[in-house]
Amino acid sequence: MFDPIEKLKEFVRHPSVSTDPKFAAGMTGAREFVAGLLRSIGFAVEVVPTALHPVILAERGGDPKWPHVIIYGHYDVQPADPLNLWTTPAFAPEIRGRRIYGRGTADNKGPLMTHIAAVGRLLERVPDLPLRITFMIEGEEEMGSPSFPAFLAQQRDRLRKADFVFLSDTGIPREDQIVITCGLRGLVLCDVEVTGAKMDLHSGLHGGVLRNPIQALAELCASLHTPDGRVNVPGFYDDVFEVEPWERAELAKLGQSEEQYREFLGIPAFHATEGFSPFESARFLPTLEFNGIGGGYQGEGTKTVIPSKALVKISCRLVPNQTPAKIRALLYAAIRARMPADVTFRIVDQHEGMPYVVVPPGRPNTPPDQRPVLARAFRAADTAVAEVFGRPPLYLREGGSVPIIADIRRVLGLDSVMLGLFLPEDNLHAPNESFHLGVMAQGMLASEKILEAVARG
Ligand SMILES: [Zn+2]
Repeated sequence: MFDPIEKLKEFVRHPSVSTDPKFAAGMTGAREFVAGLLRSIGFAVEVVPTALHPVILAERGGDPKWPHVIIYGHYDVQPADPLNLWTTPAFAPEIRGRRIYGRGTADNKGPLMTHIAAVGRLLERVPDLPLRITFMIEGEEEMGSPSFPAFLAQQRDRLRKADFVFLSDTGIPREDQIVITCGLRGLVLCDVEVTGAKMDLHSGLHGGVLRNPIQALAELCASLHTPDGRVNVPGFYDDVFEVEPWERAELAKLGQSEEQYREFLGIPAFHATEGFSPFESARFLPTLEFNGIGGGYQGEGTKTVIPSKALVKISCRLVPNQTPAKIRALLYAAIRARMPADVTFRIVDQHEGMPYVVVPPGRPNTPPDQRPVLARAFRAADTAVAEVFGRPPLYLREGGSVPIIADIRRVLGLDSVMLGLFLPEDNLHAPNESFHLGVMAQGMLASEKILEAVARG
């Protein structure tokens, strides 16, 4: 078996920044490195071209009756800028204390290496393990995975017969508390542009004659929430996935302090929805936020103008089982109904993503038709994490969005077991990114145990 830490260093030395064409050689290098490593532990590797960066598909076949796991990861990283804030160069990995530093160590090269090493060790120990394994490692995650849905559709027949997807690209609060992410919020974004007169006007000559587009837009925005903080769009909450008492209990085990959170934010008070703590609101409820607003004169001093235009950028975070299409339709209908007839306006679609939820086995709301191998994987994760990390994992929905997880569900019909491995202090996407070597060693052990238990049933 290879030395996982030495191999991780080698992996990090390839500067695989997907978003910047200057790093094309780093992308190729990282891809060839992973392909070679997977070949060295017995996998048949295929590099599948896409519109931009290829996906690595590596298979260990076997009896079609064996359980089949797809392990997802990504070989691309965020840009390393600002370079002057790094203690040691971003692509020259260095171990200091119990951490390895370098761009991509935590997101996602370290966690991916954890699983590759776990598989390598497991297959060395049990060469005839009754488990089919496919590694699916993309190179566009840090740019929003633009080619990934088309890749999934193209490979659908080959991948959809798998049982579940296993990955580590989410976080944990502490070294000894693993979190398995079981839900993600979706997104719908749009711009609303309101126009009054066809040009900016002198407010002395024309003031009092027409409706100011800033006023029309501000009144519209003010109408989109009720005073208790809920979104005031008819039908908005109709499909919201009910939060169950077990989910609130899991979240409470994180032991977060509202007072510390309030101080961290620097706000005088929370404005969370009634019946939900701030921590619950961010994970279990949908939102409507204004991400930017503008219009008229914003320079020094004053200018007595009635602007021609005003613009707002709106985003909604969605929870299961809301859909972007329905929420977009409801929101646009509310905007159209409330906009006064004496201005004109247009709504511009921006991007969107589906929310996602998977309920672990044995809960009151577990789907009765849950795949047996998926249920087995969650149970194996419970046992393995408790043995290795000293306490069982927490199952939490996250407030953020990872659209590929919903894409995998939509295109392949597969659910994901998201075993978190990076810590808040790992500095993902920031200078001095690092990965904790203790978590890596324990993660390898846990991954090995989970995969073996899935194989043995
Ligand atoms: Zn990532």
